[in-house]
Amino acid sequence: RKKIAIMTSGGDSPGMNAAVRACVRMAIHMGCDAYCVYEGYEGLVQGGDFIRKMEWHDVRGWLSEGGTLIGTARCMAFYERPGRLTAAKNMILEGIDALIICGGDGSLTGADKFRSEWPSLLEELVQKGELKEDQIEQYKHLNIVGLVGSIDNDLSGTDATIGCYSALARICYAVDLIEATASSHSRAFVIEVMGRHCGWLALMAGVATGADFIFIPEKPRGNNWREEMCGIVRQHRKRGKRKTIVIIAEGALDREGNKISSEMVKDLLADKNGLGLDTRITTLGHVQRGGTAVAYDRMLGTLQGVEAVKAVLEATPETPTCFIAITENKITRKPLMQAVLDTKEVAKAIERQDFEMAMSLRDAE
Ligand code: ADP
Repeated sequence: RKKIAIMTSGGDSPGMNAAVRACVRMAIHMGCDAYCVYEGYEGLVQGGDFIRKMEWHDVRGWLSEGGTLIGTARCMAFYERPGRLTAAKNMILEGIDALIICGGDGSLTGADKFRSEWPSLLEELVQKGELKEDQIEQYKHLNIVGLVGSIDNDLSGTDATIGCYSALARICYAVDLIEATASSHSRAFVIEVMGRHCGWLALMAGVATGADFIFIPEKPRGNNWREEMCGIVRQHRKRGKRKTIVIIAEGALDREGNKISSEMVKDLLADKNGLGLDTRITTLGHVQRGGTAVAYDRMLGTLQGVEAVKAVLEATPETPTCFIAITENKITRKPLMQAVLDTKEVAKAIERQDFEMAMSLRDAE
């Protein structure tokens, strides 16, 4: 019987539980044994109790749970070869040679490295006498498939990552709440959202809430960003708008590469010699990550989990490590490392959306 392990790694995201549930049940459906590795790569390095066999009923009720019930962690040991060597040993001791990892691009890059190193890791384990030649015979290849779990929607090659629409829904809900009080007092709010490198959440939230101005890492603002923002806000106020909403991603930059912070934006809006608005900052923080997944993320986690099990069973040593994407509403398999490379080169948010046009529709709602 084939033994397939599933783990979540890196930052948690809503919908990861749906993915784990789908992988466990699909693996069982395909006649395999299903395992969960708890606490991400840390669990793989620790072994033992961190690697648990799962039955059909073990994942009952997981669809509607937020976060990841099998835990996730950052694991320093896995960055280094000795950590990965221990991980390989633990997997073989459990009889596992197929792994599905749900995580961000860091986790998936680590997975690809692990897979390409696998034969040499086995060799080293035999040399060191930690495993016997006949123990490793059936583990010549490690099949790995990635699922992209991330609230940031920060991987190229897929329309959505598991979790991004839940986070976006949470942000929009929060902005709606803030708008009511902002309007009442005629205040301005600077709302900081997650996204150190990727501004998808900030951009989409801006479009979805009709924000007055947004800052994202992919569109560094020119030197005149102060005049630009104040000009637009002034215009909106002139048209009778009683609230001002500026959405800023954590990683907002100007063209010189300097950080644009929420405080800088707030000070500017509040400046007595300028707009002089009563301005507050709201940092949404982990509220964006937590809570139950929206329907889309449950659906995505489930459909992609099913596909991941199929893919890991069909993978051959020759095929490059793949991840499961959704493109044009179809669940597809794609080469992982190409997507990681593309992500570094193109700013997805800008590539996909007509940013200027969408934002120019906002007015004095
Ligand atoms: P994310 O998966 O959300 O991008 P991280 O980049 O923190 O989050 O990665 C999660 C974990 O994956 C790390 O703590 C580490 O154990 C492993 N990892 C990340 N990048 C690599 C890498 N280049 N090589 C080996 N392991 C890695």
